[in-house]
Amino acid sequence: MSRILIIEDEEAIADLEKDYLELSGFEVEIKNRGDEGLSTALSEEFDLIVLDLMLPGVDGFEICKKIREEKNIPIIMVSAKKDDIDKIRGLGLGADDYMTKPFSPSELVARVKAHMARYDRLVGSNAKNNDIIEIRGIRIDKTARRVTVDGVEKAFTGKEFDLLTFLAENPNHVYTKEELFREIWDMDSIGDIATVTVHIKKIREKIEYDSAKPQYIETIWGVGYRFKV
Ligand code: CA
Repeated sequence: MSRILIIEDEEAIADLEKDYLELSGFEVEIKNRGDEGLSTALSEEFDLIVLDLMLPGVDGFEICKKIREEKNIPIIMVSAKKDDIDKIRGLGLGADDYMTKPFSPSELVARVKAHMARYDRLVGSNAKNNDIIEIRGIRIDKTARRVTVDGVEKAFTGKEFDLLTFLAENPNHVYTKEELFREIWDMDSIGDIATVTVHIKKIREKIEYDSAKPQYIETIWGVGYRFKV
């Protein structure tokens, strides 16, 4: 059974989310404090985390960052303020999705299911092939979802990893931002194609010697990007 961790200090909201998710067949654990949520997220195995932004102890920004340093599982961040969502999205903390409160519990369930299916697909298909992609100094281990550049491991968020892997698996093919957005962010309602540009920039900072003169991910002006081999 898939396990979900809800880190949310408003108990009524947390309980409602838990009820709906349990009805959909998930096992759910709630933590009402940020510090407790963070230690539980890091010490136990979960398949997805629903993370509130404003929390006592440690806030959602910090929790998302800390989890991302160690795990690639989907994180859905929720906040009562639309402005906060825009802000955290801009920070590129590595959350997979963002929701503004109040939202309907069934909307949450739908998104949870979509992210889990997507994650299973990635992890599952990669486990079968036990795939390792090696292109010059870059080594992408799809099973472990780890990337090394000249032997040095680099931390990637879930979406950065997905985007890099997709491009590396389809080298020399030019993709438009729209195509990449559809491929990697399959929930139409979230974000926009500027997200692709932001993620490409982050990836380049990690894999390129000089981001201004990229050797791997090339910008084809007016068209999009390609992974050069
Ligand atoms: Ca809160």
